[in-house]
Amino acid sequence: MTTQDRYAEHVLPTYGRFPIVLERGEGARVWDTDGRGYLDFCTGIAVCALGHCHPRVVGALREQAGRLLHVSNLYHTLPQVELAEEINTRHIKLPGKVFFANSGAEANDGLIKSARRFGHRRTQPDGSPRYEVITFRMSFHGRTLGSMSATGQAKIQEGFDPLLPGFRYLPFNDIAALEEGIRPETAAVLLEPIQGEGGVNMATPEFLRALAEVCRKHDLLLMFDEIQTGFGRCGEPMAWRALVPELEPDGVSWAKGLGGGVPIGAFWLSDRAIDSDGTSLSSLMGPGSHGSTFGGGPLVCAAALEVLREVRERDLCANARRQEARIRATVGGWKLPVITEVRGIGLLLGIGLDPALVPAPEGKTAALVVANKLLEAGLLVPAAGPNTIRLLPPLNVTDAEVDEALGILRDTLAAISA
Ligand SMILES: *Cc1c(COP(=O)(O)O)cnc(C)c1O
Repeated sequence: MTTQDRYAEHVLPTYGRFPIVLERGEGARVWDTDGRGYLDFCTGIAVCALGHCHPRVVGALREQAGRLLHVSNLYHTLPQVELAEEINTRHIKLPGKVFFANSGAEANDGLIKSARRFGHRRTQPDGSPRYEVITFRMSFHGRTLGSMSATGQAKIQEGFDPLLPGFRYLPFNDIAALEEGIRPETAAVLLEPIQGEGGVNMATPEFLRALAEVCRKHDLLLMFDEIQTGFGRCGEPMAWRALVPELEPDGVSWAKGLGGGVPIGAFWLSDRAIDSDGTSLSSLMGPGSHGSTFGGGPLVCAAALEVLREVRERDLCANARRQEARIRATVGGWKLPVITEVRGIGLLLGIGLDPALVPAPEGKTAALVVANKLLEAGLLVPAAGPNTIRLLPPLNVTDAEVDEALGILRDTLAAISA
């Protein structure tokens, strides 16, 4: 029986999987069970920020596993507070507080709950709570009931209604729609500074500035989903700062690259005062309001701490920006008609494909056809929507690895569209 047959028999078929079985990784490379190597520009979908099995992360995990694996959040541990301090003082650099979860979807659920708490405190004029969270079309916020309901894509929600009430989806980057879209019950706005799964769509600086102004005017929380974009992926510790540096959000969610491969998510709330008594936003999530058995455990926090230190100490943000420039220059020089554009920032890049130039069988998108051809040629990349493939190499990717990947990309795209 092949591994794929065993999956078919025992694992729920929720994923369309590529036809390889991976068993080992090192840096920007992984190997399958046939011993074949691949350059990994998928990195667990922007998770393995330092590549596979980085010695600093592996060392921290080994050390912590032999010391203390898990205790309840009924107690304090050093790795959790050290990670929170590292995030607050060195990465987000705004006064606020962190809650640790286990995934991105859970982190967003925490932000949604926080928005509702806020809406209970800062009510509508008649005293009834505000509860609505505005999100955007083509967004992706996760697969739990809460985060799926926040996601502005019908295909993610199909067959699961009734959804959690209290969300409205507005067109992304549309300032007029935003200004008309605020209702008395609106409490918050949640968005990805760069939509990842939805196709690598950037928020425009004008839109972000208008959004911050609307939030100020209507007393709404401004919340960023930085689950895919955060911690160096976009060439800055926080992606919104690459677009509008002076913005100060009220809430932020993270996961993916934060742990470099271990399952961790987190959300952050600002310490800013939300009323004239000086009540801070972060104080609204007080004792008993939220929790997680596994969240912030010593094992994952010890690993994440080393990821963030490595990103900072080696200035991997600078490498992300430099490799982006190299990739753009090279791809731009090819003049391949099948490539419509390069979108994104840092090492969250989308290569737009012209579907008319990619022969695809019925029911298969151009992006998936190209991703499968690249895999056959030795390069792993994920799709982002029907006509975009993503390049998500590790943040410490070298010039030689980028050049090798670009060589495979050029040859493959040239052959497909010939
Ligand atoms: C991946 C992702 C999520 C969901 O994270 P999970 O860890 O899969 O729950 C949410 N938001 C964004 C922007 C993502 O990229």
